[in-house]
Amino acid sequence: MIILDKKKLFAMLPSVDEVLGNEKVKKILEEYPRTLVLESIREAIDAKRKLIINLDDSEKEIKIKFEDIIEDSITKIKLNYHLSLKKVINGTGVILHTNLGRSLLSESIKDELWESASRYSNLEYNIDTGERGSRYVHLVDIIKRLTGAEDVLVVNNNAAAVLLALNTLAKDGEVIVSRGELVEVGGSFRIPSIMSLSGAKLVEVGATNKTHISDYEEVISENTKVLMKVHTSNYKIIGFTENLEIDDLSLISKKYSIPLIEDLGSGVFIDLSKYGLSYEPTVLDSINKGADIVTFSGDKMLGGPQAGIIVGKKKYIQKMKKNQLTRALRVDKITICALEATLRIYLDEKKAIKDIPTLRMLTYTMEELYKKVKVLFDLLNNLNLDAKISVEDDFSQVGGGSMPIEKLNTYVISIIPNKMSVSSLERKLRLSSSNIIGRIYGNKYILDIRTIFEDEFEIIAKELNILIGG
Ligand SMILES: *Cc1c(COP(=O)(O)O)cnc(C)c1O
Repeated sequence: MIILDKKKLFAMLPSVDEVLGNEKVKKILEEYPRTLVLESIREAIDAKRKLIINLDDSEKEIKIKFEDIIEDSITKIKLNYHLSLKKVINGTGVILHTNLGRSLLSESIKDELWESASRYSNLEYNIDTGERGSRYVHLVDIIKRLTGAEDVLVVNNNAAAVLLALNTLAKDGEVIVSRGELVEVGGSFRIPSIMSLSGAKLVEVGATNKTHISDYEEVISENTKVLMKVHTSNYKIIGFTENLEIDDLSLISKKYSIPLIEDLGSGVFIDLSKYGLSYEPTVLDSINKGADIVTFSGDKMLGGPQAGIIVGKKKYIQKMKKNQLTRALRVDKITICALEATLRIYLDEKKAIKDIPTLRMLTYTMEELYKKVKVLFDLLNNLNLDAKISVEDDFSQVGGGSMPIEKLNTYVISIIPNKMSVSSLERKLRLSSSNIIGRIYGNKYILDIRTIFEDEFEIIAKELNILIGG
């Protein structure tokens, strides 16, 4: 038995200066900040020191190689310099995946987006008069054109839009909402909580499954400031139900002169039932049917950046613009640019369906999906992976709390590894440098073709080849 001489091993560990003297490390120093390089080298040496400390006599002697420490240091330097927020490959088939960034912007706007971010602009400057302008003017024309609304205000997200609308129009007053619409979105946004934050008092009417006009009329008083309808975008109450539609509520709103707010949640400009999806109320519909104010997200089914869009009657929106809260909820120039550029694509519906990734993924035909899945399947099949690979039918989801019962037919790649557990494959792909996120179904690893980009196929093939190459 070899008796471990730990002292000898410790003595073989290089000093930080010795590592710094290495040619490869010197090169790295030109690219990365010195403090980060030093820190990473210390980490690499420390890791080896810990390894020696934890060795026991029964283990074979280990070799401390200088080259290994150089390689470990370089890996750590690159890892430590990486942004925490990084690209992942979404193989889950959930289009608006809240945890993976929800909507994706169109590639076609990238030059304008970079220009607005990296150069001066007329963000709050009126070029015609040479005087101070407002950041909110840039989105007004395009949104008016697309929705037919009198006026527009854009804030940080839809939760902020609802908060601002209620705080402006209903602070210290009452807001009537049906019990069937007390929505919670993603755990952090609840209508009752936003209502109390806004300073308005929630008055619930009706039952979970049924609310009638008389329910509203019974509670209307001089304290009633707003009637609110919340689109139950992330659940459906089915069966013996009756909830008032926006046009019914509009009658009460007009009769008693109380403003009507509709929180649409997702908010779409295109009637997606034309593309085989269920009907989702459009912003235009909501306005035409009598909503005074409509709020919706920029990055749900609309397919733009995170934003909360408020459209409707000018007199109410003017009041919101003067609310101090608006300053706290304001949008950045990058958001304004991304939203204006995305909305401009909507002027041509065909182009919107093709160029806006969210709409593209929502409207794929089965033929298109099959073509796509075949390319990835052939690529993987040619690798002779140590696994059973097949193409299967499955369902994708819209996600992001939109269209909860919509099941989109799709094709998936199913992988059953021969010598590795499916949970181990899932974990290794997730932790790989390409961060591939799939799902497990029984003993299968599933990648849904709908949410994977064509230029990610090669990356998936490469990572699978590393893990289960034949
Ligand atoms: C998603 C949603 C919200 C919150 O929108 P964010 O843009 O995520 O802030 C509010 N109301 C409804 C009905 C929603 O679906």
